[in-house]
This record gives sequence, C-alpha cells and structure tokens, in this order.
Amino acid sequence: MAKAVLIVCDGMGDLPDARGRTPLSAARKPNMDRLAREGINGLMHTIGRGIIPGSDTAHLALFGYDPRCYYSGRGVFEALGAGLKLEHGDVAFRCNFATVGKGMGIIDRRAGRIGSAEAKVLGKALDGVVIGGAKIIFKPTVEHRAALVLRGKGLSCRITDADPHEADNARVLMAKPLDDSKEAKRTAGIVNEFVRKSHEILEKHPLNLRRKAAGLLPANVALPRGAGIYEKPPLLGERFGIKAGCVAGGALYKGVAKFVGMDVVDVKGATGGLDTDVMAKGKAALALLKKGYDFAFIHVKGTDNCGHDGDFDGKRKMIERIDAMVGLVMKGCGKGTFIAVTADHTTSCMKKRHSSEPVPFALWGPGLRGDEVQRFDELSCAKGGLGQFKGLAVMPMLLDLMGKEHVYGS
Ligand code: ZN
Ligand code: ZN
Repeated sequence: MAKAVLIVCDGMGDLPDARGRTPLSAARKPNMDRLAREGINGLMHTIGRGIIPGSDTAHLALFGYDPRCYYSGRGVFEALGAGLKLEHGDVAFRCNFATVGKGMGIIDRRAGRIGSAEAKVLGKALDGVVIGGAKIIFKPTVEHRAALVLRGKGLSCRITDADPHEADNARVLMAKPLDDSKEAKRTAGIVNEFVRKSHEILEKHPLNLRRKAAGLLPANVALPRGAGIYEKPPLLGERFGIKAGCVAGGALYKGVAKFVGMDVVDVKGATGGLDTDVMAKGKAALALLKKGYDFAFIHVKGTDNCGHDGDFDGKRKMIERIDAMVGLVMKGCGKGTFIAVTADHTTSCMKKRHSSEPVPFALWGPGLRGDEVQRFDELSCAKGGLGQFKGLAVMPMLLDLMGKEHVYGS
C-alpha cells in the first residue's frame, strides 16, 4: 500500500493586499512550487462554501469526519490534547485560571499570565473533587490554560460558558442550560458549583497567598468554556485499515488527531508557535513512515498566528520556513508516497481573523493526471485540475491513491 503525508499550514490561505500579493504568493518557496508544478491542484472549501472554519471543525473534516456529526465543542479536543483519557459520556471544557475580585468581577482573565509550574500546583487542588455526583478531572496545560472534564452519569454539553471572554468590566457568568433536558440543567449546576468551589479553594491556597504577598495577581478562580461531550467515534484504523500518526505542537491538533485514532508523537522543539522547530517535525513524520505508518499528518500553527496579528511579512517568512520542511519530506518520503499540502482555512492578515475563502491545495505523487499550475498560491491553484472541493473529500482522495479504493456499486 502506498503511503501519504498531509501537511497542514494553519490559516495559510489569505486575501491579496493592495499590491495583489498574498503571503503565499509573495513567499520564496521552491519546494511547494515544485510540488504544485509536478502534482495536481485545487481550492478547498474546508467545511463548505461561505462557511468560516474553526481549526477544530476544519481538521475533523480534513480527517474525513463530518463535523456536523462529530463536533459538539472544543473542550473534547483540548482535553485529549492535554493527554487526558476520555470515557464515553464525559463532558470536557477548556479552562482559564483567572483573577477575580469582589462579586466575581474579572480583574485579569489570565491570572497575570501565571507560569505553567505554578498553575500545575494549583490544579492539583481542584483535581479529583466530586460535585453533585460528578468527578472533576482538572489538568493545567500551558500558562493559565487548563482542561476540565466532568465524569458521571447524565451529563450534557448543551450549556453556556462561565468565562465571559472579554476582559473589561466583565463578571464571571453563570452557566445556563441551552435546552430543557434535565441533563443540561444538571450539568450547568455542576459547572456553576465548580466555579464557586474553585474560587473557595484557590483563594486561600498557600501559593496564591505567596503571590499576593509578592504583589502578583492570584489565580483565584477557574473558568470553563467550550463544553463538548465525548462520544467515541469509529477510528481511522477501523474505518480505513490505515495506521496514522500525528506530528503537531498545539494541544488542539493533537487532540483532534487522537480523537480520530492517530498516534501522536511528541517532537522536541515543536511548540505550536512561531519558534517551532519545523524541520524536526518533518523528520518526525519521515520517522513515522519508516516505522510502518501508512499516513502522517504534520501541522504547523505559526502561519495562523501571523494572520491573527496582521503580520504579512511574518506569515511569508513562516511559509518559507515550512517550504524547507516540505522539501525535506519530498526528498525523504520514498518512492510511491503521496504528499498533500494545504491549509485548514484562510486567516486574512487584513481582517486578522479566519475567513471563508477556499484554501490552496496541492497533491503530489506518482501517476497523477496533473494540470498546468506552475506555482502554489491562492490564484494559481484556482486553475488546477482538482477544481473546487470540500475538506471531507481529502481523505477519500488520499485513500484512493493509497490503494484503499473500492468500487462504489458494481
Ligand atoms: Zn486553523
Ligand atoms: Zn486561528
């Protein structure tokens, strides 16, 4: 069976600036251009036309999982990405340590950007607490961030956030049920009690008393958001008979990969930020193929960060760094391997947010029909032989090339 590598540069798609350039079209990227020239190209609407993808739903679609069936909230992927093992029916959240004053008014939504080591100590005081018959599983991740899981019978993810999101003059919100079910009402009650209890426990925690004495903001509450329910899906191995591995820095991407049954390798220097070691990621993916994996997924986040910051040049430079990794993978992947390079969505430097424009997609490997595209960018790929297609088509396309095809009908 042939192998495949899927390289996703987060938010790499963009809109043209005043001079008609995008970070991708302006970048010097000989390897991606070669891949496009020798391969076949198109534009991908990751979720669907006119729909602005989140990174979580976009990756589900890319892996062949319709987000309309498999997505209930980001918390599930954050918890899996944080290394928590989930059980069917668990409700998971992303969480922030925050600083609150009187009347639960928010002083700082990030608790003075508390360090990971201190957050870990505080997290231990919340982990294992039982509220209303549900077990609290709490794991700090990076700085003020954490994952929260409620485990017990009769829980629902149909509730609103306790985190008010904006920082100014905000108060901690009461989680409210989003439907009339007793499960949603019960879960909202448990979340509200968790927030109250987290404040009670953290406010008098010795570490916070020391922080206060040192003039630092105490991390005196934990605020959950993005509730999702974990329902175990059929995994990639069961569905397609492939062994798949993931190379990513960010917890969210590791989480989505774990959700669909990929093995996640930890790569030294893969940070999920601009300082990430892109070449180490390429090498790790090649190692996966050598070890017998059929499918390797590589995720690079930095391009999206630059888009959100409106940093055109930073994004262009990040693409140039990724290009060197693409060259490494093309060289080392071995004959007969297919490589797809794309983005999960457009993150416009001008709008500083995700937007709905389709993203360039290039597919490279032996025996492809090819097209006349010479360069890898938004406008060039629009003329490609794959035309315009949805993200859910990517896995069937790759599986077909890998030799996992079967005739539909007779
Ligand atoms: Zn993304
Ligand atoms: Zn983004």
